[in-house]
Amino acid sequence: MSGIPERLQAVENAIVAACAEARRPPAAVRLLAVSKTFGADAVLAAVEAGQRAFGENYVQEGVDKIRAVADALPAVLPNMSPDARLAWHFIGPIQSNKTRPIAEHFDWVHTVEREKIAVRLSEQRPPALGPLNVCVQVNISGEASKSGAAPADVAALAEAVARLPNLRLRGLMAIPEPAADLAAQRAPFAAMRTLFEQLRANFGPDFDTLSMGMSADMRAAILEGATIVRVGSAIFGARDYNN
Ligand SMILES: *Cc1c(COP(=O)(O)O)cnc(C)c1O
Repeated sequence: MSGIPERLQAVENAIVAACAEARRPPAAVRLLAVSKTFGADAVLAAVEAGQRAFGENYVQEGVDKIRAVADALPAVLPNMSPDARLAWHFIGPIQSNKTRPIAEHFDWVHTVEREKIAVRLSEQRPPALGPLNVCVQVNISGEASKSGAAPADVAALAEAVARLPNLRLRGLMAIPEPAADLAAQRAPFAAMRTLFEQLRANFGPDFDTLSMGMSADMRAAILEGATIVRVGSAIFGARDYNN
């Protein structure tokens, strides 16, 4: 796990720098550490370095890791206050037969792109856990990507999510196609910001989240108003397989 605290610090510094460039307060952007393909030991190393929010893409891997981390946490951080508990975000594609473990184990879901999935997540959310925080995933790159709701369908889907009793609509998420330079990276993020601002009037103060930006494009995302950046390889290192 060597290097995780140093890389985490470097990513935090880059977020602060991008916020300064964007004239936004540094607290306006939260870091989601994407731990997919890495073990509980990597998560615990990041927790020791102060990180509290983690993102997972695969249901079974995520649930196993949530359990393993919870079991190991008291020994790693015996004095961690209960308010500082970890938050787990599901950020992968959702199959309708896998919604239950997501509803039962995660705090957030960023990848709701169909009403049917939202209905299942709400039905399966144990009320004692409180509402599941949801972002609607937007297909902002059009033809190039298969994931996410078409921009024209996002308002109706967001309204459907907002009506479900055990979900809390928080905002929008996107994974634009990779682009080489800053201007090309900014264009889809700017379109996301426009969509987000159009919808914000309908949904009140809970609608506060624009989840966009990864290791390679988080500066562009922050310049265009991201409130959560999802960063994996820049913290944990290169993954063995790609997703
Ligand atoms: C893997 C992944 C990330 C993190 O990607 P990196 O390039 O490793 O920072 C962010 N968001 C989603 C949805 C992912 O699947």
